[in-house]
Amino acid sequence: MPGSLKTEAIVLRGIRYGEADRILHLYTPERGRVSAIAKGVRRAKSRFGGRLEPFFRLNLVLYQGKSDLMTVTSAETIMGHPRLREHGAALDGAARACDAVSRLFGDGEPHAGVYHLLANQLALIDREPAKATRSNALTFRLKLLLAAGFAPHLASCASCGEPEHLVGFSGAAGGVVCAACEAGSFALSQDGHDFLVSALGRSLAEVPDASPAALAQADRAISETLEHHAHVRLRGVGSR
Ligand SMILES: [Zn+2]
Repeated sequence: MPGSLKTEAIVLRGIRYGEADRILHLYTPERGRVSAIAKGVRRAKSRFGGRLEPFFRLNLVLYQGKSDLMTVTSAETIMGHPRLREHGAALDGAARACDAVSRLFGDGEPHAGVYHLLANQLALIDREPAKATRSNALTFRLKLLLAAGFAPHLASCASCGEPEHLVGFSGAAGGVVCAACEAGSFALSQDGHDFLVSALGRSLAEVPDASPAALAQADRAISETLEHHAHVRLRGVGSR
């Protein structure tokens, strides 16, 4: 039904539309992912200024008319995150975080926890762009898996419950597996296992560091979990 919606939102993505408009993919706490058109936003004298750009956290008023696409009628900046835009790794980390949220959580799937996780991630790498490391990107993804209900099982064998001799990780089984259940798994080192456990258990700002080999295993564990259980394929997190 037609009407206005006042909401906070993070701009995930903007797509040029027509001569001066932009279609925005937004993530909101109460409506999940929504799309809205910002009319005239690409004109030099747009009343929106430069606010409707990716990674901005905003207070918006959106008008819902008869079409599915809402129209932005007002926008106020909460956080513009200017520093992350000046740092290549932070900019890349922000883009990957927004892309992952967009792919994992479809339209009409509200998840206030995901909204706050994304807001925290953008604020963290804006405040300290050097925190935009590979372990930070993997920690963010693990926390997204948790929010989506696909957190890997790490405390005992995901297939048989055996608490010891955990030697592999199986995306199909949904977690670590023991020597007897290792078919279809890949080898997971103690360091890789430890990273997964602490990344899920600690806050984003306290990202544990780990060896490149452990991070590569964590990356593969996350990718295989997503492919098996969410049918989503994300770009790798890079080699930093
Ligand atoms: Zn087992």
